[in-house]
Amino acid sequence: MRNLASIQRIKALEPIENADAIEKATVLGWQLVVKKGEFKVDDLIVYCEIDSLLPDRPEFEFLKPRGMRIRTIRLRGQISQGICFQLSVLPPGFEIAEGMDCTETLGVEKYEPPMPACLSGIAKGPFPSFIPKTDETRVQVLQELIDVFKGTKCYITEKLDGSSGTYFLNRGEFGVCSRNLELLEDEENSFWKVARQLDLENKLRSLNKNIAVQGELIGEGIQDNKLRLRGQTMRFFNAFDIDRYEYLNFEQFTGLMNQLELPTVPIIETDYELEADIGAIISRATVKSKMCQDVWAEGIVIRNQTEKKTAPGMYQDFNMSRISFKAINPEFLLKYGE
Ligand code: ATP
Ligand code: MN
Repeated sequence: MRNLASIQRIKALEPIENADAIEKATVLGWQLVVKKGEFKVDDLIVYCEIDSLLPDRPEFEFLKPRGMRIRTIRLRGQISQGICFQLSVLPPGFEIAEGMDCTETLGVEKYEPPMPACLSGIAKGPFPSFIPKTDETRVQVLQELIDVFKGTKCYITEKLDGSSGTYFLNRGEFGVCSRNLELLEDEENSFWKVARQLDLENKLRSLNKNIAVQGELIGEGIQDNKLRLRGQTMRFFNAFDIDRYEYLNFEQFTGLMNQLELPTVPIIETDYELEADIGAIISRATVKSKMCQDVWAEGIVIRNQTEKKTAPGMYQDFNMSRISFKAINPEFLLKYGE
């Protein structure tokens, strides 16, 4: 689970042009606007990331008009993501240490967009334990990792704003899953409809192995269909070898997608040397979609080309210890009020 609220350090404070009452603070890899003079560099503070829903308490009262939700905003030209509080918002006796999670202590919850009926489906059971769920960590909390893996050969794909789907063939059984559940076959459910449209069951059977493919379901009726697509479709970003409990690397993955004639998420760059600069990576994410030229992309996902692994347990944020993370386009978040 993402630490929405945690104790962090003010890394830097810088003036904002044409603004006397506010300044720009850096916390982790995030930048935000704060009241001038309220914090000093190196202060420990409580930082809440975007998507935080703060509890209805007097000290957070000023967030009521915004539905208690922390979103990306722009003030005097400066993008601001997240919010800082003095440590005094924490209950007495709470252990103060940099990095300490205080999401639960503060009663902070995560904003989740409502799931449309066509996606929810009827649960067959929990998400299968033999396949990892899809997830990506935000680059803003990964400075340490990108310092270590600077220069690693990576590829970049466009992050599509849809709904995560998993299809598998395991011991002769074909299965369809939404992000957190396995779904019973039903005529109304989009994950199943797309599976039949793409002939996925036969395609996976043709491989004669236990395998899963994972992608993003996008199109009409999903996340407001910002890319203005017709119908619904799946764009794949993972293939997973169930018996080896391993993802296929980029070359094997694209090879398999070609062989099965399945579409991948848009590939932006295949030969990218990882930079250790979060600002530079966010700039790369500030692009228009490859699928609809005049619409902001949600962002990018960066992964290493070969599934070189981080030391086991070194970065618990990493699914299967591969290097893989997202950078969300701040312009996208601003535009759609997130
Ligand atoms: P957060 O972790 O930021 O709180 P979240 O868990 O809902 O939010 P998302 O913003 O949905 O995360 O980002 C992760 C999801 O992005 C993955 O589960 C996957 O479904 C989806 N996704 C879309 N495009 C891609 C892509 N190109 N590569 C990998 N995953 C992608
Ligand atoms: Mn997540």
